[in-house]
Amino acid sequence: MAICKGCGARIEWLTMEESGKAMPVDANPAKVVVDVGPGKGYRLVNAWTPHWATCPKAKEFKKP
Ligand SMILES: [Zn+2]
Repeated sequence: MAICKGCGARIEWLTMEESGKAMPVDANPAKVVVDVGPGKGYRLVNAWTPHWATCPKAKEFKKP
């Protein structure tokens, strides 16, 4: 758990598998159901929203 320095919202930092970079996301992810595969049923997974999509101070994240 972390706090956004821009707006004070609660966020989490997730590490991207591909790039290894950390990305801020909103805490309290939405839950989505995904189809695991034929005959394997369904699974509930977290759907994280990138914090810059909701942060009113998102522009301050982008450094030149
Ligand atoms: Zn914010």
